[in-house]
Amino acid sequence: MAKIQMKTPLVEMDGDEMTRIMWKMIKDDLILPFVDLKSEYYDLGLENRDATDDQVTIDSANATKKYGVAVKCATITPNAARMTEYNLKKMWKSPNGTIRAILDGTVFRAPIVVKGIEPYVKNWKAPITIARHAYGDVYRDVEMYVPGPGKVDLVYTPADGGEPQSVTVHDFKGAGVVEGMHNLDDSITGFARACFNYALETKQDLWFATKDTISKTYDHRFKDIFADMYEADYKEKFEAAGIEYFYTLIDDAVARVMRSEGGFIWACKNYDGDVMSDMISTAFGSLAMMTSVLVSPHGYYEYEAAHGTVQRHYYKHLKGETTSTNSVATIFAWSGALRKRGELDDLPELVDFANKLEKATIDTIESGKMTGDLVLITTLPDPVKLDTEGFILAIADELKKQLA
Ligand code: NAP
Ligand code: MG
Repeated sequence: MAKIQMKTPLVEMDGDEMTRIMWKMIKDDLILPFVDLKSEYYDLGLENRDATDDQVTIDSANATKKYGVAVKCATITPNAARMTEYNLKKMWKSPNGTIRAILDGTVFRAPIVVKGIEPYVKNWKAPITIARHAYGDVYRDVEMYVPGPGKVDLVYTPADGGEPQSVTVHDFKGAGVVEGMHNLDDSITGFARACFNYALETKQDLWFATKDTISKTYDHRFKDIFADMYEADYKEKFEAAGIEYFYTLIDDAVARVMRSEGGFIWACKNYDGDVMSDMISTAFGSLAMMTSVLVSPHGYYEYEAAHGTVQRHYYKHLKGETTSTNSVATIFAWSGALRKRGELDDLPELVDFANKLEKATIDTIESGKMTGDLVLITTLPDPVKLDTEGFILAIADELKKQLA
């Protein structure tokens, strides 16, 4: 069988620990036998980030701007323990944070739905994709403990020398706490644009919710930016695509999400997205079955798994013990990136390969072959637990059949 040819390279960002081990297996067993892979390789493994003073992360993000599509392996975000473990020069920042800052993107996370791994919410039939605004609010706040009676004001001093404006936050009669938060029109606008574009591209309804009845200026600003952009740029396109933009209050949204059948994008403010993405991934079964794509308002895409480097399994692997680590989210990161590359470069055979890779993965699980994490939660009778590479090889067998 002739290998599928690519036109433009993918940006390939390698990573750490168990996911790095799976990365190589996925390439060797599921990609390279079928695709003449063109990729520009960046090693984001912690050792190389340390050796390059993290320049490699910046370079990989800039390459994503150049080529448009990247696939990323999970990476270690160093903490004190990693400083010692890897003898690091510095506690390097989270690569995802660095890449997100350079690409200015929004992260969309969606569960991979298979028969036999049933969502806890029984009426959910299709994935719910969470889009989390990744700037500001409580994540960039300033806070103060107020030790006793006294007044706290919020003061704005215009840079052009205009008249300062102030409001009183609270006139404290005793001790308490106070918090100042901000967000930016630019950031909210970029978030809204990424959400509308992604909804159009994936032909799914877009939901957005805030607490604008209580937060009449702050949350209302989010509501207005979304509403104005929808009216100006997307209303006609959404109608033509047969999809809907739906705004409601956050508590109403939560109630409706629980009653829904799924199959839509839920745009969330930063905190809501943090909390709700954990609920959605757990309720759909497993973090190992969750994909993630960073979409920039300029049209750059970076695909990855939502989980981390699965450190506990890696240490077992290093001791020579058998592991059964789930590679599905990392496989879907590859299929997502290859499909996008195929769409952008007008390569239907690459798109078709990406679809078949996903179908082979789902069919393998639905036939009862899966990794240990899924064996614990499946409703299928007599599941077969495979080891890390055994599962990937089972998918390879299925993929060969589908490509034949
Ligand atoms: P993790 O790698 O997501 O793993 C936490 C636990 O979840 C695992 O021990 C395992 O449970 C289960 N799990 C996660 N993915 C799995 C998979 N593919 N197959 C089977 N089980 C899976 O989180 P962590 O251990 O807290 O973090 C490890 C490292 O990952 C950290 O250094 C962190 O900085 C990094 N991290 C990176 C990213 C990223 O690059 N996007 C995201 C999150 C964390 P059992 O042990 O019970 O089997
Ligand atoms: Mg969270």
